[in-house]
Order: sequence, then structure tokens, then C-alpha cells
Amino acid sequence: MDKSKLGLIHIYTGNGKGKTTAALGLILRASGRGLKVVLGQFLKGRETGELRTLALLPGVTVFRGKPLTKFSFQMNEQEKAEVLKIHNAFIQELASHCRKEETDLLVLDEVIGACGTHLLDESLLIDFLKHKPEHLEVVMTGRNPSPELLELADYVSEICKRKHPFDRGIPAREGIEK
Ligand code: ATP
Ligand code: MG
Repeated sequence: MDKSKLGLIHIYTGNGKGKTTAALGLILRASGRGLKVVLGQFLKGRETGELRTLALLPGVTVFRGKPLTKFSFQMNEQEKAEVLKIHNAFIQELASHCRKEETDLLVLDEVIGACGTHLLDESLLIDFLKHKPEHLEVVMTGRNPSPELLELADYVSEICKRKHPFDRGIPAREGIEK
């Protein structure tokens, strides 16, 4: 396939369900065409169902940050500083992997949320996007992207919540939300 057409930047954002699942759908398609895919997961706690399936897909490598046990608003300043340091190193690790190993699609799941909660230095992400390998396609997910990230993106898809069962007390279900 002609990989010279690759190199665009995608954002899946909004308050509705489906940002991560949309990114996973793109991984499925890319893997089917023989693309080399890297998924980096930010702000992740427990194991999710997709990790088991992704391990079965050809050409897909998953990098997980250090699993977090707290939301950002539950962390004290020292905990936040530690996570920031870990995430800053994580984005550099992903960037250097994509420069060294053949990578066609890089999915940065919840990277936008990590920036928004100051658990990742957004300038590192922006610097990477501006100097990324020319034919590397990049997907980012998360709520409330900054104007700078929106400006750099070629696709911005917003998933708007009209209804969500969480609002009537139905918590995340295995196989659907996790
Ligand atoms: P998914 O992983 O299901 O595609 P998402 O990536 O769009 O969801 P996130 O903002 O990453 O959503 O949400 C983290 C968790 O909260 C997921 O389990 C997700 O399914 C769930 N979720 C998403 N949107 C809502 C909402 N509006 N209310 C409650 N829970 C939500
Ligand atoms: Mg998500």
C-alpha cells in the first residue's frame, strides 16, 4: 500500500462515549492493511478488554503508562508531580520508538485529558506533533483539547453526549466500557 499519503493528525473529543472505541476501530482497520501501529495509553488504571484483543492483532504494539489508582483531583501536589514526570518521560519514549521502529499509526489515548489535567506537559506533545516523522498518522483522544492542539489537527471529531446510562446510575460494564 502507498504509505506516502499517511501523516495526518486526528482528534476524537467530546463528552459522549466512543472516543477510545473509535480510535480502537481505526487500529483494527490499519492493522488489516498491514500498517504498523503503536498505542500509548495515558491516565489508565485497570486493565481493559481491548488489551487482550490488541495482543492478537498483527503489527500492533501497546505501551501502557504506569497504571494510576487515582483521578487527578484526588492527587496531592507531590503525587501530581510524580505522574507528570512519568507522563513526560512516556511521551518521549513513544516519540523515540516511532522514530526508531517502523510506525505508521500512533494512537495516544487520553493524551488530551492528561494535558488538560496538567499530568503531561502539553508543550512536549506539541513539539512532537510539529516534528513527527512526515508519514506518521497520529490519533489523540480526550476531552477539552486546547486551541493549539485543535489547530495542529487535520481531523477533529466531537462525540456529543445526548444520553448516557451513567446518568441514571448504571456504572461502567465489562466488555462495553472497560
Ligand atoms: P469509550 O472508552 O467507551 O470509547 P470514551 O473514550 O469516549 O469512551 P472517556 O472520556 O475516555 O470516554 O471515559 C472514560 C470512561 O467513562 C469509559 O469507560 C467511558 O465508556 C465512560 N464514559 C464516556 N462518556 C461518558 C459519559 N458521558 N458519562 C459517563 N461515563 C462516560
Ligand atoms: Mg477514552
